[in-house]
Amino acid sequence: MKNKFNKIIRVRFAPSPTGPLHIGGLRTALYNYIYAKKNNGKFILRIDDTDKKRFIKNSINYLIDSLKWCNINYDEGYGKKGKYKPYIQSKRLKIYKKYINKLIKNKLAYYAFDKKNKLKLYKKKYKNFIYNSLTRKNLNNSLNINNKKLTKLIKKNKYVIRLKTPYNKQITFYDKIYGKITINSNQLDDKIIYRSNKTPTYHFANVIDDHLMNITHVIRGKEWLSSTPLHIIIYNYLNWKIPKFVHLPLLLNNKGKISKRNFNNNNNPIYPIKSKYKNIKIKNSYEELGILPESLINIIALLGWKPKINNEILNINTIIKLFTLKDINKSDVHLNFKKSCWINKKYINNNNKKILILLKKYLIFNKIYHYYNDKLLNTIINLIINRIKLININDIWYNCYYFFIRPKKFYIPLKIKKYIIYNKKKIINLFFKINIFLKKNHNKNKIILLFKKLQNNNNDYYLILKIIRILIIGELKGIYLLDILNILNYKQIIFRINYFKKIIFNYYK
Ligand code: GLU
Repeated sequence: MKNKFNKIIRVRFAPSPTGPLHIGGLRTALYNYIYAKKNNGKFILRIDDTDKKRFIKNSINYLIDSLKWCNINYDEGYGKKGKYKPYIQSKRLKIYKKYINKLIKNKLAYYAFDKKNKLKLYKKKYKNFIYNSLTRKNLNNSLNINNKKLTKLIKKNKYVIRLKTPYNKQITFYDKIYGKITINSNQLDDKIIYRSNKTPTYHFANVIDDHLMNITHVIRGKEWLSSTPLHIIIYNYLNWKIPKFVHLPLLLNNKGKISKRNFNNNNNPIYPIKSKYKNIKIKNSYEELGILPESLINIIALLGWKPKINNEILNINTIIKLFTLKDINKSDVHLNFKKSCWINKKYINNNNKKILILLKKYLIFNKIYHYYNDKLLNTIINLIINRIKLININDIWYNCYYFFIRPKKFYIPLKIKKYIIYNKKKIINLFFKINIFLKKNHNKNKIILLFKKLQNNNNDYYLILKIIRILIIGELKGIYLLDILNILNYKQIIFRINYFKKIIFNYYK
């Protein structure tokens, strides 16, 4: 789709390879992808790797793996063909140089030779010190030196290039989420746009690339909102059209904003997938915890965007259909892994195969598989599948261990405890009868028939069945008792009832 100006909508995700992608970045990628898909536009992946000091090997690989796992495909960009190649900033240094020179020539940027220590001292001495039109006259930069001296200084000294922000000018722009924003230029820093190692900084390179790559909408995290006035100045200095800005609300974990540098002290997982790379250590990724890629998309889509319908279980096509920028919230979003599990549960239905593989592996490892076969396991899986929240062996086992091993612990609710204490004679009597029946009827179907009968009787029998459930699986949870009995064999049933009955009744002597 073309926008008002007959321009194809082009959005980009521009991560820096300074660590593994977390779900904040993944959400930015997803919203860009959705917006492009919704508008028949193009979604571009660009790697912002100008900060060599913070570069972390394999973060690009991890990022690509994550996008693939979630099925977020980009149309153009890193590793793909495209008209605006290269899509990695370290290969575009010549381009940036050209525009840096242009700004310098027009006296809109300048060389600065100040030593770091000196600037630190200034910052200590003058509270709220900002390097800009109010202070730059007293500092060591090309604005205060004649041309001859400058050529010498450049040859001999380390320098950076700073943007010359205007004096006392209102900078206004419009953000699609946060509305009209105005800031006085005196509050801005003459940001370094070119480092001493002759690489551009993010602020400069991203403006140049967004313009040259014909980006129409810059959709990115709110942490960049405060830098946007600076970017506006660069666009204006170069006489370029300003793209639309869409800043997404921050994602918060228990202990504040999530970030690559702050991932130890939180409970909610923040990384999408496992890592194949030695130097990238990921613990507790959504994948490892058992979240499915299609649920992760649903989970992340709702981190800041609220559809106008009353349903939160939405597949990617529905999300694309319903998505509008207007429905993105301003307020920060708290991660909530419980909700993620709830969403994931709704996607488990067709994953019998994945569950079978995990369960089988676990049973083989614990040397109990030989008692079972795939058919039986599939029957069990069908019985428990709508109780599973996560495709991981812990959650699967939690929901079906009682088919394979007898319980080691009992959980008896107070109500039943009281019932046992006050009705011990009656219950023992009943169990006695059941026992006689079981001894006479060495046949599982008959046992099931007996329990069915018990079930149809009211009052006490209902509680007796609960006790039997506890005897068989250790607690009251679990699927329909008769379904459990159908799977267990005769010996297991008798053994569990008789074995645990003794323990329980002794306990209440
Ligand atoms: N390279 C920036 C980052 O690491 C991208 C910010 C932007 O999208 O402009 O997030």
